[in-house]
Amino acid sequence: MRKTIGLIGGMSWESTAVYYREINELVRKRFGGLASADILMHSVDFSQVVAWQKAGQWDRASAYLGKVGRNLQEGGADCVLICTNTMHMIASEVSAHFDIPLIHIVDVTGAALKSAGMKRPLLLATRYTMEQGFYRDRLATAFGISAMVPDAADRQAVHDIIFDELCCGIIDDGSRAAYCRAIEKARDAGCDCVILGCTEIGLLIGPGDTDLPVFDSTRLHAVAAVDFACAEDQGLLREPA
Ligand code: GLU
Repeated sequence: MRKTIGLIGGMSWESTAVYYREINELVRKRFGGLASADILMHSVDFSQVVAWQKAGQWDRASAYLGKVGRNLQEGGADCVLICTNTMHMIASEVSAHFDIPLIHIVDVTGAALKSAGMKRPLLLATRYTMEQGFYRDRLATAFGISAMVPDAADRQAVHDIIFDELCCGIIDDGSRAAYCRAIEKARDAGCDCVILGCTEIGLLIGPGDTDLPVFDSTRLHAVAAVDFACAEDQGLLREPA
């Protein structure tokens, strides 16, 4: 029986659309024909979430996203994905509101890095993710991986491009070049791969932009969701509850 994937999306919807497509394509690849994923999504208003981020009101964001997750559970979801790296800062507070598993984006990414033998990734993400401990500490503690981040000016540029462009559907060649320069600097400083640690970055850069291995958190998260949902699937149709 295939399980129902619960998505807390909309942060931003530009990347949630990638999740939706990626999850469905993976299910089609696995089962063929007209097979598609069983998904329950609540896409939130990102402007409200960003207002809480800027005000440092993480408790309000936790209460809200927690309620959204609870609603997904009550609607029949078997797992929850928070479709943004940044909001994993409050993942444990959010997941305290429901009983179904949270598929944690840092764990999924860390497992992929570890199985590929990576030791020193460059983390490209929002400033929240690059500068606060929740992401790098979890990678270090759970996987023994020490991620590096760009210098302060590049962190600001990477962050601004995410919010001012990628989350607004703007893809700019100059911004791609700026990301590539940050990757080159990190390579010179010894990094061995790149984490796209923000769910929109894959809209701008990908494996074709660097010869370092690229780990796209959006795609890895989508694969983990499909693995979870299909773990016991015998190809049987299931009746809605
Ligand atoms: N989607 C982005 C991320 O993965 C940033 C948006 C947000 O602040 O949630 O971190």
